[in-house]
Amino acid sequence: VKAIKVVGKGRVEVIDVAMPVASAFNAVVQVVSSGICGTDLELLLPSEQPLPVTPGHEMTGIVHEAAANGRFKRGDRVFINCHSTCGICPHCRNGDLVFCRDLRVAGFDFDGGDAEYIEIPDSSLRLLPQDISFDLGVLIGDALGTPFHALKRAHVEKGEIVAVSGLGPLGQMAIACAKSLGARVVAVDMNRSRLDAARRMGADYTIDAGSPAMQESILSLTEGKGFDKVIECSGREVAIMNALKNLKPRGRLVQVGVCPALRLDTFEQLIKKEIEIVGSRNFNDRELPEVIGYARRTPGVLDVVTRRFRIEEAQAAFDAAKQGTELKIVFDLRQGE
Ligand SMILES: [Zn+2]
Ligand SMILES: [Zn+2]
Repeated sequence: VKAIKVVGKGRVEVIDVAMPVASAFNAVVQVVSSGICGTDLELLLPSEQPLPVTPGHEMTGIVHEAAANGRFKRGDRVFINCHSTCGICPHCRNGDLVFCRDLRVAGFDFDGGDAEYIEIPDSSLRLLPQDISFDLGVLIGDALGTPFHALKRAHVEKGEIVAVSGLGPLGQMAIACAKSLGARVVAVDMNRSRLDAARRMGADYTIDAGSPAMQESILSLTEGKGFDKVIECSGREVAIMNALKNLKPRGRLVQVGVCPALRLDTFEQLIKKEIEIVGSRNFNDRELPEVIGYARRTPGVLDVVTRRFRIEEAQAAFDAAKQGTELKIVFDLRQGE
């Protein structure tokens, strides 16, 4: 069966691998849809070394071979939680899988979903309701679930001005989520087509982060006050600096995008305005029914999937993702059926 491998800086190949086999606790899932994520590009593609694992941490499919001691059976439609954990520690029991000390992530620590079949713990499977498409399931697992949680971390109140910075798939979904909470949403990015997409996703205002008039626009939008909340999805240092500058006193920054190194002047950027900075990672497992319910009520979120590729087109797919002209790119892995 086919699987994608990262073979060196920016290069991927499709290789033949042995068909995975189920075991006591692991099932084999036929992957139907698998998304390319910004983290794949940041963490996987810059590496000079071939990666030991198949990428892909946003995937849905159909159980092909059930785990002997599992809860799922052959033919079940599932989406896969990429976070494989111990299942018994207090964090796991609380649904906070990302805090588990035994956390292993599909597509990073073991073979992920950019393949025709994936071997995965039965405990990582979640039932995909019949009315939720495989693509929508892919979004729920990360591009929608992550901002859904981030907006909770923001504690948005009705009428607040929430800026979303960085308008990739996560940022676009963050706009939809913020709107559903009754916020006035300002979308910020340097990319014209992404700003247009943000409008279609429901943003009330868009601001070109490359424009010299940015500061003035923000001040006039917020009556000189600054944003109540910023959801920062780009992970770019300059965007984070702008967010801190443009927050109101006691405003709150929810950091979703990963920025490996950041220089912060604690007085100028934090203490002076009593800014709150919180991190947000994926979502709590117990929030899943809420995320599914939200997706069901908001079918327009599927517009964020702008391009689909077959597995043989892996290189073209990652190249397109790197260019940044698309929003969410997914692999269609169930071909000719
Ligand atoms: Zn992702
Ligand atoms: Zn645990």
